[in-house]
Amino acid sequence: MIKLDILVFGAHPDDAELGAGGTIAKEVANGKKVGIIDLTRGELGTRGSAELRDKEANAAAAILKVTVRENLGFRDGFFINDETHQLEIIKMIRRYRPDIVLCNAIEDRHIDHGKGSKLVSDACFLSGLIKIDTQLDGKNQDPWRPKLVYHYIQWKNITPDFVLDISGFMDKKVAAILAYGSQFHDPNSKEPETPISSKTFIESVKYRAQDMGRLVGKDYAEGFTVERLIAIDRLSSII
Ligand SMILES: [Zn+2]
Repeated sequence: MIKLDILVFGAHPDDAELGAGGTIAKEVANGKKVGIIDLTRGELGTRGSAELRDKEANAAAAILKVTVRENLGFRDGFFINDETHQLEIIKMIRRYRPDIVLCNAIEDRHIDHGKGSKLVSDACFLSGLIKIDTQLDGKNQDPWRPKLVYHYIQWKNITPDFVLDISGFMDKKVAAILAYGSQFHDPNSKEPETPISSKTFIESVKYRAQDMGRLVGKDYAEGFTVERLIAIDRLSSII
């Protein structure tokens, strides 16, 4: 059984890359085991198809060198935060036992992002309760609660609670994003334009990372928010 250090959830294939691709690449380079679980196959996306996005997601996973990537096959646009969906996520948390979970922005342009964020966050809490029984492959699972849940920032400009220096990993982030050829700018595509297929979109992704980096004196950074107050041991412990 594989234990992951970090498990990243995204409502759609490409959310993890857009919000935390640099962080994922950096953590993997530092020897951490990282996995990605997409909640839906993005089948309602204006461009591409579910099958194409499966292939693109696998290509992006190979670029980021994640240990696992799975898809829960929830309904794009219509999944809800209920017991059935929470249990599916709890099974994944108990299977991979991550110390840290990253999930969607708490509120965003796409309604699935805020919904997926709350769903994953609720499941992280519930996963620690001993009286919730789950089975995977016919075996009973032990409870597991991640120590930390962070929300990455994707479309809207949310003020981060902390930023992570991704200098040196921006190229990997962009390469992982561009693995989704159906979603982003392609001058030869005949498909309809979307907010993320414009020529300037990728530039805006780079600019945001540069701007977050600028605030802390680094070349590039990704921002995150926290839900629960984090305790530190000493004033100097995060220096
Ligand atoms: Zn999305």
